[in-house]
Amino acid sequence: MSKEILGINELIAAANKNDRLNLLDDSTVPSSNLDNAIHPIFHDASFLEKSLHLRQALQLASLFLRQDKLLEFFIPLTYGRQQVDSATGKSYLSNPVSWKSDAEIKLYINGVRQALHCLEHCLIFRWVSGEGTERLWGRTRFFERRPSHTSTCSNAFKYKNSVLIELNNKLLHFYDDEETGYRTRSKCDQFRHDFQVATTLIHEIVHAFGAMRRGGLTEPFIRLDYPSDSAEWGYAWENFMFGAIINPQDRTTYGTHVQLRKTWADIALAKANGGKEYSAIPVRWTAQWFRKETWAKIEKTGPLAIPPPVTRLKFVSSTKYHRWVIMTDVPETRDDIAQLHDAAVAAKLKSPHCTQRDLELRRVVWTLVDSEFLQKSNVPIPKRVPERFFVSPPGNSRSKRDRGEDGAEPGRPGKLLKT
Ligand SMILES: [Zn+2]
Repeated sequence: MSKEILGINELIAAANKNDRLNLLDDSTVPSSNLDNAIHPIFHDASFLEKSLHLRQALQLASLFLRQDKLLEFFIPLTYGRQQVDSATGKSYLSNPVSWKSDAEIKLYINGVRQALHCLEHCLIFRWVSGEGTERLWGRTRFFERRPSHTSTCSNAFKYKNSVLIELNNKLLHFYDDEETGYRTRSKCDQFRHDFQVATTLIHEIVHAFGAMRRGGLTEPFIRLDYPSDSAEWGYAWENFMFGAIINPQDRTTYGTHVQLRKTWADIALAKANGGKEYSAIPVRWTAQWFRKETWAKIEKTGPLAIPPPVTRLKFVSSTKYHRWVIMTDVPETRDDIAQLHDAAVAAKLKSPHCTQRDLELRRVVWTLVDSEFLQKSNVPIPKRVPERFFVSPPGNSRSKRDRGEDGAEPGRPGKLLKT
């Protein structure tokens, strides 16, 4: 796996030579104008006491937990009832959101806010390094420490101790390094790193929230139709928020790298449709998350207000041809990919010894495609927001609810979460 990434790293760098695709920098990107407060869940000593440069990442992470439209993601996690699909044996959650009035949704959101408030008392963050953390961003597990709940706490959590989120120390090291790290970098470098830290934090908080709520680490599927490889609630949140799983290509060193997006899908389904696709993200897309205008749109319309980035470069791990297929609408990238390819071919002639990297570069295929084709994913994007965003005609809601379409008792938000 890491060898696969090694090959792709060089190919991306060649395609983005002189940053012609603006994957790393963009002089037209405005500075951040975020001035929001940091959510109390991040008042842990692991953050600003370690480095003041973490402020912007924590502001962004806080925004993901602030707006009602985004907290709707947590409603099934808090109020959904676990059930088993008889056809597939999959455990999944009922979704109490469908067919509810805005006033009812508001009650659920209040319950989610109370639970998140309580999570402040039983959530510990820790930076980790060493063996087993090379490819890790973050992970969550239970922790034997009595939490300091208050009399106004929610009773949402079944687990009575605490939960620990471990974060890769490489992420912190970039902030720490005053000589070559965060402080000395361009705002676009900083945006990419802050985005990675903020989304890692929320990804893990989603796991922590669910683990505390259920009293176990095994996650049922949030929706029955979500990818079956693993329930992965963190991916479910990334899919909800961005319509993709977003990560830097390179995990070998600390700092910021080109970000790639991948549609969240079963591996088998991706393979059956040509292979896993990784699209390079122009830094302009990442930078917009640090602007208040972006958040004003989300407040109004929810996460679908922000369209996906425009793709100009895509890497397909081709199932059929067992090689990287590069798709792009930028003809200039061809020569630089060809150079890598030709060098790998020449190396083979000189020496019979062949590394995985050489093999990948030798076999790479470059194709020019039109822009419209590039924007399409080869697998469907799993449903991002509850149905009520799409259909909630007032005339219909009663009859649908009477049919009890989700098979679950309507939630009782007030009762469930009050002490
Ligand atoms: Zn509490």
